[in-house]
Amino acid sequence: MTTRKLTAGRLIIATHNRGKLAEISALLTPYDMTAQAVGDLGLPEPEETGSSFAENALIKARAACDATGAPALADDSGLCVRALNGAPGVWTADWAERNVIEADALGGPGRDWYLAMGKVEGKLAEQGPGADRSAYFISTLALVWPDGHHELFEGRAPGTLTWPPRGAMGFGYDPVFVPNGETQTYAELGPDYKMQHDHRANAFQKLVAAVF
Ligand code: IMP
Repeated sequence: MTTRKLTAGRLIIATHNRGKLAEISALLTPYDMTAQAVGDLGLPEPEETGSSFAENALIKARAACDATGAPALADDSGLCVRALNGAPGVWTADWAERNVIEADALGGPGRDWYLAMGKVEGKLAEQGPGADRSAYFISTLALVWPDGHHELFEGRAPGTLTWPPRGAMGFGYDPVFVPNGETQTYAELGPDYKMQHDHRANAFQKLVAAVF
């Protein structure tokens, strides 16, 4: 099956997540695209009502494409932990949402990634010291054109979860994820490492090979 090619020009980056935006913008640097982020265009975040990474990536890319009339690229990603049957998975971002009690204790609603990492760790701790700590990050990239055509690309990065969190670079669950073959976490290895090796980079390499 042939893949639709992306011609030079405007490309909307359909994410409000600063960490993802930085990674995607850096990955796009070598290509002749004028990238614009939905946040800078004042576009709202659509509700992610899909039950898979691909569905949610398509929802985000379609919303941005419909609003701008330009091709749009979205990432839906998450952390899948083997011992938790793949959780938090599609709900990775939701595990960072504070409930009422947590919000009261932590000074208001919002996303708290230390809370999210702690929830994963708590569930692993319930399984005892021998718990399988292997996990993988997954990224699904959706590219949507104004005529409705779309392409999907999936990348994965396997690793192990560590505790306590280590490192100050990165975002989300980076401080607890040690990719296979390394001893440091993503948050210690930093953006140059992630740009070459993480799940988003892996999906992006497939996108580049197919559409550029
Ligand atoms: P969503 O794709 O917007 O639903 O959110 C996925 C969530 O997965 C993000 O908000 C992050 O917390 C987490 N995530 C995705 N990619 C990474 C990564 O590269 N490092 C750390 N956390 C990530």
